[in-house]
Amino acid sequence: MKKKFTRAIFPGSFDPITYGHLDVIHRGIKLFDELIVAVGRSPIKNPLFTPEERVEMITELVDDMPSVKVESFHGLTVEYAKAKKADVILRGLRSLTDVQYEFKLAMTNRSVAGIETVFVMTSEEYGFTSSTLTREIAAMGGDVSRLVPKPICDRLNKRIEKLKSMQ
Ligand code: ADP
Repeated sequence: MKKKFTRAIFPGSFDPITYGHLDVIHRGIKLFDELIVAVGRSPIKNPLFTPEERVEMITELVDDMPSVKVESFHGLTVEYAKAKKADVILRGLRSLTDVQYEFKLAMTNRSVAGIETVFVMTSEEYGFTSSTLTREIAAMGGDVSRLVPKPICDRLNKRIEKLKSMQ
């Protein structure tokens, strides 16, 4: 039987992208023919980087991954997934706390839009990595080089410096 082409979307805030997200992307490209990293333009959160900057940063990092596309989107993830004719939503899991939250989200997305969610577990070394933790450590002048790649680290430190100089 001929294998069906599969397209997945990996939605998130990616403010900024971390080694944990990259780990999920590396796992995702082995599972799907095409992977769209989808940067949400959430109106509630107070982001450090604009969606355009986040897309730019991720695009630079996935330059050598031809099956990966990076885009930003407005509104509901399921609506975006439908518009992209995606087969699945890809999400990463770090801990049991993630499972609890993601379980509800996946159930809701399946019941309202009939879309399945596929979960991959992160490598142990990234189990505690998150964008929030990265932003907090950087804001206090800490070293985030083990959490994010060098170009992101540099942009993050520059952004924090700029924000501090404006205060
Ligand atoms: P959200 O904006 O929904 O909080 P994020 O942008 O932080 O999400 O992350 C998007 C996805 O990446 C989520 O599925 C989240 O669980 C996953 N993720 C984030 N950090 C890691 C990590 N260190 N390991 C595995 N998955 C992760």
